[in-house]
Amino acid sequence: MTDAFEPEAIEAARKLFAGPISFLKSAPSLEHIPNANVPEVAFAGRSNVGKSSLLNALAGRNALARTSNTPGRTQELNFFEVGDPLAFRLVDMPGYGFAKAPKDMQRKWRYLVNDFLRGRDVLKRALVLIDSRHGIKDVDREILDMLDTAAVSYRIVMTKADKIKASVLTEMKALTADEARKRPAAHPDIIVTSSEKGMGIPELRAAVVEAIG
Ligand code: GDP
Repeated sequence: MTDAFEPEAIEAARKLFAGPISFLKSAPSLEHIPNANVPEVAFAGRSNVGKSSLLNALAGRNALARTSNTPGRTQELNFFEVGDPLAFRLVDMPGYGFAKAPKDMQRKWRYLVNDFLRGRDVLKRALVLIDSRHGIKDVDREILDMLDTAAVSYRIVMTKADKIKASVLTEMKALTADEARKRPAAHPDIIVTSSEKGMGIPELRAAVVEAIG
């Protein structure tokens, strides 16, 4: 079900991610975001989905993105620069779905994410992370709807695949792909990953590079 990337594409992506990658800035509002001068790929997902771990695995470094998100730090867009000369940026979008998030925080998240998605023409694709154990939940559907409405193309990436049995994973992947196929801006193929085991990481790098290409 996952479309195979050509070995050349996997290798080119590996090389890019093996080069310079650095944290640029955190933007709590759109006034603070960097100039729209290079392509961007954004990562979204519910808090604790494994987004920081996945960004670190992609970059092949341990401490690029902070892994212990606290609710206070989540209302920011974090920008990372890849390549020298600069090739593209990765955008770590604020996590969502805190059980006890106050209403005004949820509202702030919605405005920030919506404004970013609608106004960022260099944003080539979003990768929406879904926990393999849980599949797509209503909190995830909110961002999927926002992406569909803003016509930002996106791919669903399943995380923490090492946490469930292969048979359950296959089932979850099929269910998730069924939903992706019904959504206008979603890529029909799902990428299954485990930051812990390095599974799907080369493919995810290739998917990022394909998006900015
Ligand atoms: P974030 O809130 O989405 O940035 O999530 P984190 O990257 O901080 O991960 C949340 C928790 O899940 C941490 O305890 C991680 O160690 C764990 N985790 C993340 N990715 C994986 C994975 O691929 N496999 C396993 N087993 N645990 C993971």
